[in-house]
Amino acid sequence: MATGNEIAETLRGLVDRDMTFMHICGTHEAAIARTGLRSILPPQLKIVMGPGCPVCITPQGEIDAALDLVEKGCIIATYGDLLRVPGSKGSLESCGGDIRVVQGIHKAVEIAEKTDKEVVFISVGFETTAPTVAASILSNPPKNFSILSCHRVVPPAMKWLLEQGEAKLDGFMLPGHVCAVMGYDEYEQFPVPQVVAGFEAEDILLGLLMLVEQVREGKHRVDNAYPRVVTREGNAKAKKIMYEVFEPSDVEWRGFPVIPQSGLRLKEEFGQYDAQKKFGIVYKKVSKHSACICDKVLRGIAEPTDCKLFGKVCTPRTPVGPCMVSHEGACKIWHLYQVKK
Ligand code: SF4
Repeated sequence: MATGNEIAETLRGLVDRDMTFMHICGTHEAAIARTGLRSILPPQLKIVMGPGCPVCITPQGEIDAALDLVEKGCIIATYGDLLRVPGSKGSLESCGGDIRVVQGIHKAVEIAEKTDKEVVFISVGFETTAPTVAASILSNPPKNFSILSCHRVVPPAMKWLLEQGEAKLDGFMLPGHVCAVMGYDEYEQFPVPQVVAGFEAEDILLGLLMLVEQVREGKHRVDNAYPRVVTREGNAKAKKIMYEVFEPSDVEWRGFPVIPQSGLRLKEEFGQYDAQKKFGIVYKKVSKHSACICDKVLRGIAEPTDCKLFGKVCTPRTPVGPCMVSHEGACKIWHLYQVKK
């Protein structure tokens, strides 16, 4: 395999016009920022982050719903990343409720097994985490356990982005983790160059090279630059479990309107584990903080440093928007690695 420097050199020889590719994965952004990879790319080649941070794309109405569950006396179990995301009435960290940070749904189930109180797991994530959640639901957790499903699936958001044409994209770098579960046949519907890429600097550079080659050939297909982990069909067992428990639903994403079939809700037969049904939770549409541009960052039309608040009012200690909270958020990553434009 060619080294990163060799691939970058090849790219410099091939990119003869502006090209913009979007990746949809916080882990890709962290790898790109950590390795300073943008600095060795040809100036006409741009890679932007899209809606690839599951915490960031969870709309404020769902954060407020979690806070409503606290007011109803529930114990909330959640990933640490969600704790400081601001809702309308503060955050889970500041609300004074019984909030437990867990590493996964199995730990939340263990909490429910040891208490009579209601325990709600705030279930955030893409297709990577949904099968694990589904498996736990199938294992008959206790009656005092439920989930607030905030899951999203990636392809409908890509469809929305392409239909809008706002970000003027030449193609997508597909998320390796999501594709490890789901495969990539579903992405073949999109008429733009796409490449599944892994997370080492060389993987990302190879992915970019394969994207550039498709653009130069005037072709579009889904290439796989991560064959050591990803197959076209993905993990059949994980997909089966996921769709045994969840069904697609129309949901809002932060920075996006309601995107058809882009969420995952529990099927009717698992309604007893659906916190929304159990506690009569209705999601409300909430306007964003006026100066925060997380919405634009998530749609790939702005970079963190375009935000007036970046690194001044908004820092990882004093986050204004979710992109500065989550370790997969573009603003937090750029702040951490001091990425400059
Ligand atoms: Fe929002 Fe803060 Fe990022 Fe600005 S720097 S877009 S306020 S999260």
